[in-house]
Amino acid sequence: MTRANLYDVAIVGGGAAGLSAAVALGRSVRRVVVIDAGEPRNASAEGAHNLLGREGTAPLTLLQAGRAEARSYGAELRPGRAVGVRREGDVFVLTLASGGELAARRLILATGLADELPDVPGLREHWGRRVLHCAYCHGWEVRGQLVGILGAGPQSIHQALLFRQLTEHVTLFRHTMPEPSDEQWEQLAALGIEVVDGAVARVDGDGDKLAVVLETGQTANVDALVVAPRFMARGELFEQLRGQLVDHPMGRFIPTGPMGATDVAGVWAAGNSSDLSAMVSSAAGAGVAAGVAVNADLIAEEAHAAVESRVATSQLSNPSPAR
Ligand SMILES: Cc1cc2nc3c(=O)[nH]c(=O)nc-3n(C[C@H](O)[C@H](O)[C@H](O)COP(=O)(O)OP(=O)(O)OC[C@H]3O[C@@H](n4cnc5c(N)ncnc54)[C@H](O)[C@@H]3O)c2cc1C
Repeated sequence: MTRANLYDVAIVGGGAAGLSAAVALGRSVRRVVVIDAGEPRNASAEGAHNLLGREGTAPLTLLQAGRAEARSYGAELRPGRAVGVRREGDVFVLTLASGGELAARRLILATGLADELPDVPGLREHWGRRVLHCAYCHGWEVRGQLVGILGAGPQSIHQALLFRQLTEHVTLFRHTMPEPSDEQWEQLAALGIEVVDGAVARVDGDGDKLAVVLETGQTANVDALVVAPRFMARGELFEQLRGQLVDHPMGRFIPTGPMGATDVAGVWAAGNSSDLSAMVSSAAGAGVAAGVAVNADLIAEEAHAAVESRVATSQLSNPSPAR
């Protein structure tokens, strides 16, 4: 690998975070490559909401526009998966699933997260359409409808209260959740949230409605079922560089400072890989921040190198007199 084909920055992941970083760096005339496996987290959703100016745009349409914007500033987009990374001196060498390698001076991990759904048959088939996790992403679309909450942990009560703001018809299926506190029982009763005991065996559905089937055989129909996935940052590359993921009650993430810098020198992270609750707009913002921080870091290195080279040149042209 020669210096001629060395990128300034390699960005792994071309979702909202990675593409926003690519735009910021492309506009700074940096040589940027984005490697993207093309599986954004919200791919199954009909539209991305809470997105000023692009409200409700289909996620893949949004990314298509983002790719064109990144390319327009010279970013190179490579479809595919990065499966390995190592440090060689002052550069990072990424191995691609296709077998190729590429090298860059800095690395941004915008790999997103994987939603690990509760182990109930039928959830994955309806994920993002009728099986939901986020009141802000899907709540408006199910307002006034019959909404079930699949109890799993303490957050299930919070989800029940959140969706009760959107509809009077909320049923909490206790499933595996711990016993609510007295105060929580009072809140559920006062808000008219029905509570159903027993474990859920499976979820059936025809696309429009869901049937929640309990282990007892009892069935309840709902328009949507809210679940609490575990949010698992895709952090394999970070771990290969000896970075340590941090466990969180909701999953795990890559720890960063405010501009996305990680504890591994030369590596930044942005979007859901480092912020489990980031929505599209905040993932994009974090991508821009990481791009800006990486550019500043490269500028500092280059300014330092320019001074060193100037000093070396002047020493060559004005050697100190021999004793
Ligand atoms: C069902 C659902 C609906 C949602 N609805 C909304 C909504 O309405 N509004 C909203 O603001 N947010 C919504 N979100 C959240 C939104 O999906 C995230 O905020 C956003 O996707 C985060 O962007 P990101 O760039 O961090 O990650 P992602 O969009 O997940 O992008 C990460 C990219 O990295 C790629 N990648 C990962 N590992 C590698 C690798 N090793 N090599 C190459 N590529 C790799 C992935 O394939 C993917 O393309 C929703 C989420 C879900 C699950």
